[in-house]
Amino acid sequence: MSSAACIFCKIIKGDIPSLKLFESDKVFAFLDIQPLSRGHALVIPKFHGAKLTDIPDEDLVEILPVAKKIAKASGAEDFNILQNNGRIAHQVVDHVHFHMIPKPNETEGLGIGWPTQ
Ligand code: C5P
Repeated sequence: MSSAACIFCKIIKGDIPSLKLFESDKVFAFLDIQPLSRGHALVIPKFHGAKLTDIPDEDLVEILPVAKKIAKASGAEDFNILQNNGRIAHQVVDHVHFHMIPKPNETEGLGIGWPTQ
């Protein structure tokens, strides 16, 4: 299931370019266009749903292993994984996404890495 109007569905289809890090039948990962740190990635289900509660379990369970893979590949020992649901919770794009935000060193690691937009 995808949504014609959804920007992340367009990224998955390749209609909008992205710096792709990973793709499987259920999961897609790419670099965030406005990174909060070097290597800030988004891991998303290919299934279109706005909130975590909209995503089938069989799609959801494939997300965290990919986030782990990308966290390891980033080389950062410290990192945040964030997932916002709804406007009050700072969600801007209505397609479920997990932010994987590396904190490469002490200077860049200060703060909680919360999306500011
Ligand atoms: O969790 P939230 O919805 O606030 O985050 C959306 C994220 O999607 C932002 O970090 C933004 O930079 C990213 N984005 C992107 N490429 C786009 C549109 C948004 O990486 N074309």
